[in-house]
Amino acid sequence: MADIGEGEVALRETPMLKLRIKKSSRISSGISSQAFDESWNSLSESEQQAFSELPLNTGFDHEIKDPCIARWCSNCLACSSELEQYAVALLGSRFQQSCSPNTLYRLVEPIPNSFYFEYRTTCRVRRGTQLQVTYDILGILCTAQKRCSRLRKRKGIDCRCVSCHPGAVGSDQRRAVAKPIVEAQQRRGTIPEVRYASQSHQHIHIYQILAALEALHQEGVYHFDAPLYRDAYEQCHRNGDHNNALLFRDHCLRIAWREGVVAPDPLT
Ligand SMILES: [Zn+2]
Repeated sequence: MADIGEGEVALRETPMLKLRIKKSSRISSGISSQAFDESWNSLSESEQQAFSELPLNTGFDHEIKDPCIARWCSNCLACSSELEQYAVALLGSRFQQSCSPNTLYRLVEPIPNSFYFEYRTTCRVRRGTQLQVTYDILGILCTAQKRCSRLRKRKGIDCRCVSCHPGAVGSDQRRAVAKPIVEAQQRRGTIPEVRYASQSHQHIHIYQILAALEALHQEGVYHFDAPLYRDAYEQCHRNGDHNNALLFRDHCLRIAWREGVVAPDPLT
């Protein structure tokens, strides 16, 4: 396999066992076993077999009695936060956990009741490099200690990524800079976006926006960049800082091209 460029689709996959769960700090205690059984019984025998070959995490700080539910909790990915829906993808759920992932995923629903997970790289991924996602998108800006505790509770994972390593100097501080400036947006049917809260932070100076952008870039959470750049552009434009406004507008355009929202300008 060749290198995968930044922003390219690494995988599209239809997930299975998509379940709605009640809000809880433990995914396992939010699942209705009746709903799980109904979804499980709708799978073919070969799908059930493939599911049973997925890894089973055992690091939960509580007991999950049903091994099928433990395996589901170990591997499920968020479809949305507001609806609290999660699903398992046979290939994508094997991606390694990282708090500075090189791949992001989102659920795409081109027509009602037909959906797939789409995984895009956040940077150039060299041949032979493991693809990584974050299994706890809502905890991404927490400190390493908090992220690790959330991942253990929800996924039974002990995160060993570069940002959770004790030697990851500055990672917590960078996320702390970003956290008060961005806020989690839990949009119906989408992976939550983190955006600069322009309405409630009119007093924030441009250097703080730049610090937040830099922090997110250094942490590799590039998928937050588009709304951040847009709001940074608006903030600069309002403040009459035209040079930086143009810079941020160019970043927005670059992302729009990358995401296929507009066609790239052939002259640039
Ligand atoms: Zn981590």
